[in-house]
Amino acid sequence: AHKSVNAVLAGLNAGLARCFSRRLRSPVNTLRMAIVQRQIAPFYQPFMDARSGQIAGIEVLARWRHPLYGYVSPDVFIPLAEQHHLIVPLTHLLMEQVVADLQHQIHRFPLGTYICINISAQNCLDPGFECDSRDMVRKLNANQSHVVVEITERHPLHFTPQLSEWFAALRRANISLALDDFGTGYSNLAYISALNPEFIKIDKLFVSQIGVSDDTRLVDSLIDLAKNMHLKIIAEGVETKAQADHLRNKHIDYLQGYYFSKPLSASELIHQVAAG
Ligand code: C2E
Ligand code: MG
Ligand code: MG
Ligand code: MG
Repeated sequence: AHKSVNAVLAGLNAGLARCFSRRLRSPVNTLRMAIVQRQIAPFYQPFMDARSGQIAGIEVLARWRHPLYGYVSPDVFIPLAEQHHLIVPLTHLLMEQVVADLQHQIHRFPLGTYICINISAQNCLDPGFECDSRDMVRKLNANQSHVVVEITERHPLHFTPQLSEWFAALRRANISLALDDFGTGYSNLAYISALNPEFIKIDKLFVSQIGVSDDTRLVDSLIDLAKNMHLKIIAEGVETKAQADHLRNKHIDYLQGYYFSKPLSASELIHQVAAG
């Protein structure tokens, strides 16, 4: 599987050489170049145990700082990567970097139990991803870390027996699933039970309403729904104390957002946890 990713990268390089010799500097070629030159790096956003306030885990978020154009949002380059079938090599390089960043730190610093990776529909069915995530479990299991794969509800997957088997293989390798951006898609019970995640992440859209409007029925009923399905709940986008308090009173499991920490580079992450 690694060989095929390297082959893809070699292909990217060859393709780029041709494009640049013909001066074709489209956004996708700029992205290809960024992937090949490893300008896109993993950042890490901690999330907290709602009861103890300790770090429960970290979410990997891709960050691209282009030498000329500066910061490019994942909301721009992830869809571009998906459109041009670049997400598989990009995910591979990010996972490789996560292992390099964390394997010597994870047993020295309290980074929590979970390492969450965002994936796209194109990563599903990819045997290379299965291989990379098993590699990650093997290399990062110093303090019993659990790898969690986050899948957005925004673009629902089409379940086939093959896809169910791919998820089953991940589960056998001790990898859990989180349904990301819950509430923004169909929030369909049949879909949730087909995916059978261990975690659900309540989208920041609903969290941002707490404290703004007195009406918290929407976020409260999403929480109740997830609780009734015995899912562990992570609230994303927590920005204020009022939001954190409301969510704690609803007994949700984990809190994530700028109120606790923004996404950090590997060295910022280590500095922050080392400082306590
Ligand atoms: P997501 O997985 O739902 O990630 C949460 C987003 O909310 C992140 O945006 C994060 O930086 C941001 N965020 C965290 N706390 C707060 C807060 O308190 N307030 C607000 N307003 N925002 C907060 P980011 O990093 O820009 O990523 C956007 C989306 O891009 C992610 O949403 C995810 O769907 C996608 N993405 C990022 N990295 C990857 C990746 O490596 N692979 C794939 N397939 N998708 C990725
Ligand atoms: Mg996510
Ligand atoms: Mg999300
Ligand atoms: Mg999101």
